[in-house]
Amino acid sequence: MEQAISTKEMASKWGTSSLLGTSNYKTLKGEKLGYQTAIMHLAPASLSGKNTCQSASDGCASACLNTSGLGCTSTSQNARINRTKFFFEDQQNFMLRLKKEIESKINSAERRGMTPAFRLNGTSDIKWEKVKFDDGFGVTQNIFEYFPDVQFYDYTKVPNRGKTPEPNYSLTYSRSENNDRFVADAMEDGQNIAVVFGKGEVPDKWTGPRGLTWPVLDGDYTDLRFLDKPKRVVGLSAKGKGAFDTSGFVLYGNGVLDMTKLDQYKNRALRDPSIIGQRKIGNDTFVPIQSKVNKKTASATAELLRQSGRRARVVEHKPTIGGRKKTAFAVYTPGVFARNNSGAKVALIRRSDRIRSYQRN
Ligand code: SF4
Repeated sequence: MEQAISTKEMASKWGTSSLLGTSNYKTLKGEKLGYQTAIMHLAPASLSGKNTCQSASDGCASACLNTSGLGCTSTSQNARINRTKFFFEDQQNFMLRLKKEIESKINSAERRGMTPAFRLNGTSDIKWEKVKFDDGFGVTQNIFEYFPDVQFYDYTKVPNRGKTPEPNYSLTYSRSENNDRFVADAMEDGQNIAVVFGKGEVPDKWTGPRGLTWPVLDGDYTDLRFLDKPKRVVGLSAKGKGAFDTSGFVLYGNGVLDMTKLDQYKNRALRDPSIIGQRKIGNDTFVPIQSKVNKKTASATAELLRQSGRRARVVEHKPTIGGRKKTAFAVYTPGVFARNNSGAKVALIRRSDRIRSYQRN
């Protein structure tokens, strides 16, 4: 009979002593409602060298929750990378160990008089319903089938996984800057949608890409998504690097561009390490107000600016996203960054040689 790897062996072979964790501030809030949630954190996107998020956008990979809270320490980051390597290099033993940890968490929840719940994609987007493994007794099933009475849940950006790929697995579809079509499909199917908004900018209602308007609930209150009412938008506040997102993944103001907040956009772009600096175009100085977006999004933003009487340029740049250099586009409009003592302005101008071309409009 195949045994799950011991903690000691896993620590020595894979550099991590557990697959599941229980404490983050949202799961602690869930405890007040009687649920003990265990979350597994792997390395998102291609951070480990293997892709755990097949539908990640440039914006979400860059702003990923992987960088929020305690997750941004190097110890956590290394553990996430090590777990991911374990999963890809020895999936059968990884799943056996996961099963064993789930059993142990169920026991500890029951001892505390609580209901266990599990989120396996804390910072990844793996289709767990497709991962079948042998339990050592000749039974081959996915993890949900081994625990039919236990509730699992996740957020996902992978389209067409459905609301409940298994009866005990609840999925909330997650919006990014490039998946409008799938957000609209999911809403039409009645699947709840998670949307990331700027800090303090979570609205009461949100209108999806095909015009459906749903109430927004506070997704930061608890993480227990399977308890949410149907036809809700789960409003999340940008955290970690997400607080500086300018890609369109995080929605500010009206969700596209709020003309009253141009100064805030400029400040975000200034703090974005991938963004190129201000440019002289003709007699004017242009500043970036959006970066790391695809050409279509950048052109739409530029058009919006022009409709409101401003000039705009779309500029190609080469940000590093998820550890790789990518081609993306930034939107420039006339303006200046305020001078300050940090030297940021000078540094940004020096990087202007990274500008490759202009799209003349
Ligand atoms: S936000 Fe989700 S899909 Fe995007 S990189 Fe992070 S875990 Fe992956």
